[in-house]
Amino acid sequence: MTSPQRTKVLIIGTGFAGLGMAVRLEQAGVHDVVVLERAGEVGGTWRDNTYPGAACDVPSHLYSFSFAPNPDWSRSFSPQAEIQQYLERTATDFGVRPHIRFHHEVQGAAWDDLDRCWRVRTNGGDFAAEVLISATGALSDPSLPALPGLDRFEGTVFHSARWRHDHDLTARRVAVVGTGASAIQFVPQIQPDVAHLTVFQRTPPWIMPRWDRQFSSVERWAFRHLPLVQRLARTGIYWGREQMVAGFVLAPNMMRAAERLARRHLARSVPDPELRARLTPDYRIGCKRILISNDYLPALTRPNVDLVAAGLAEVRPRSVVAADGTEREVDTIIFGTGFHVTDIPVADRIMGRDGVALKDHWAEGMKAYKGTAVAGFPNLFLLVGPNTGLGHSSQVFMIESQIAYVRDAVQHIDRTGDVVEVRRDAETAWDDGVQRAMGRTVWTTGGCASWYLDDRGRNTTLWPGTTWRFRHHTARFDADAYRVIEPAPSAEPITVG
Ligand SMILES: Cc1cc2nc3c(=O)[nH]c(=O)nc-3n(C[C@H](O)[C@H](O)[C@H](O)COP(=O)(O)OP(=O)(O)OC[C@H]3O[C@@H](n4cnc5c(N)ncnc54)[C@H](O)[C@@H]3O)c2cc1C
Repeated sequence: MTSPQRTKVLIIGTGFAGLGMAVRLEQAGVHDVVVLERAGEVGGTWRDNTYPGAACDVPSHLYSFSFAPNPDWSRSFSPQAEIQQYLERTATDFGVRPHIRFHHEVQGAAWDDLDRCWRVRTNGGDFAAEVLISATGALSDPSLPALPGLDRFEGTVFHSARWRHDHDLTARRVAVVGTGASAIQFVPQIQPDVAHLTVFQRTPPWIMPRWDRQFSSVERWAFRHLPLVQRLARTGIYWGREQMVAGFVLAPNMMRAAERLARRHLARSVPDPELRARLTPDYRIGCKRILISNDYLPALTRPNVDLVAAGLAEVRPRSVVAADGTEREVDTIIFGTGFHVTDIPVADRIMGRDGVALKDHWAEGMKAYKGTAVAGFPNLFLLVGPNTGLGHSSQVFMIESQIAYVRDAVQHIDRTGDVVEVRRDAETAWDDGVQRAMGRTVWTTGGCASWYLDDRGRNTTLWPGTTWRFRHHTARFDADAYRVIEPAPSAEPITVG
């Protein structure tokens, strides 16, 4: 590596996590910070998911930073563009932009024992940092199924997280693959325009009514001029959501009431009993992500829509073939097939002490102490790391908990000059506790396969508890769970892979 730019803290990513981290460090007086972002603007999820109908499914007054309340949310569940503008404004208002290096994709990062720093290679130059904070997102790299024939398809193919706005769907014959959180938002938006829509559904999702509404000008006035009103709204939403944890993690049978509500919603939306049967899940609600929508189910009843209750098995130059053998002519395929969640690409690129890649450390499944620190990886912190995801509430709450913990860690490192690495026994004990708690959750007992699970069936994505308990765990940096790495007597210079 040649003349790397040196910095105390290097953050990767400018979604909610990376941005929030940069703001909180700035506020704590840690200014020697560089933020690397592969794209040309901040926003992460909300910059990339521009498909028609994209919106959050946790109310905006909770799905936002506690330190940057926004009185101007237009509705309970804000559309993508509003959330993206909010993140862009936050980056500007809190003075983070000068720290960001756009179009810098991290290609490799390796711990240098001799210099006691992280050496990071990007397509825009090299960096050396005392502390590395990875905030690359759990739902950031789209996943496409390996389908036979896909490369020979003569029409247009794209993933919902990389929407082709230049491709007019009017009068097209479109196949949509997947019926998850994104598909149920864009299907009703495109259905009126296309000539024909074939939706491939492997497993039907449970769908609840979406209680969304526009805020009145009086409400918005109150949010702006009486900040307590907005704080109360946020607190009310938080505790309302938090009550749902019991059903998810302690007693999945409590979810039966929610199932009845979802069944009634389905019956009201889909009069045809045969179509309704194909749309009725056979697993406990909550086992897969619960979706909310008022227009997805009615869209499936329209004459130009065909719901195939089978996966897509093969693609031919002008058609798609379902797992049940039926073939349909299409000219556009849209994948709503989710993301690389349990195989995040950055795990291939980060090498700890002794040249061990994060991916290899996770050969038996992802794990990290408090979802944040990994044994063998000194002065490295992960935001939205293993088992920090949620099925019921705002991810931003979890992100802010982790940010407080990591800020405290950075201040500890600053004060002591130590290089810290979580003890292996602390990491193991934490992970054992998480997996024990996972045993009784609806994600384990609910009778479904989901993207929460890795290929061994281990849930390495969700937090099996209340969010306030996670906040308690991450309230301060607990140096006693870490060991101090002494300078190496001698070491070979490292190369970044
Ligand atoms: C369509 C959709 C809707 C969602 N709705 C909700 C919701 O309503 N409520 C909720 O709680 N959660 C929701 N989520 C989850 C959402 O991802 C999180 O809430 C949150 O936005 C994650 O923020 P993040 O900063 O961790 O990751 P991201 O927003 O994914 O940001 C990661 C950033 O890292 C950058 N990056 C990645 N790799 C590299 C690299 N190698 N080098 C440089 N930069 C890199 C990316 O470009 C990106 O900007 C939704 C997710 C999706 C996809």
